[in-house]
Amino acid sequence: MKKVLFPGSFDPITKGHMHIISQASDIFDEVYVGVLQNLSKASFFFTIEERMEMIKQLYENYDRIKVVTGRKAVSVASEYGCQYIIRGLRNTIDFEYEKSIAEINQDISKNQIHTICLFADSTLSNVSSSTVRELFQLEEDISKYVEPSVKEKMLRKRR
Ligand code: ADP
Repeated sequence: MKKVLFPGSFDPITKGHMHIISQASDIFDEVYVGVLQNLSKASFFFTIEERMEMIKQLYENYDRIKVVTGRKAVSVASEYGCQYIIRGLRNTIDFEYEKSIAEINQDISKNQIHTICLFADSTLSNVSSSTVRELFQLEEDISKYVEPSVKEKMLRKRR
């Protein structure tokens, strides 16, 4: 059985992330969405538990999509038997970043875990969790970028 880990902050999960998950589930038997704390990101909107909960809810009818957490992508991948990590590419900045992380992960996993990158949907390549959070703080509509249940949870958190 081919399994893949899609690690990220998902703060919150956007339609851009969901497009990558959908492509990954066409290729792999099981997709593990790994909600991890990105130590280089100082602040967060949702806790890890809240992010996991909302992703679980979005995929509650999809047996092949699981939601997990852990400290490091490589350790989470081996814990769940994933030989591959999947990441999304929106632009050349993502490319440079992902290339270096992929090489480090390959190195620390002693060549056991490989990274595959998938391209963003052209209509979603400007979408990031941070722009969603910023637009939300400015009280702009974020419906184009996140599912209604995610928007609802953001509104509830603000109240
Ligand atoms: P991280 O903090 O690990 O970068 P993110 O949640 O910001 O976590 O992103 C997780 C992955 O999803 C990254 O590979 C990122 O490039 C990708 N990604 C983010 N937004 C999009 C999008 N709109 N389309 C495709 N991939 C995306």
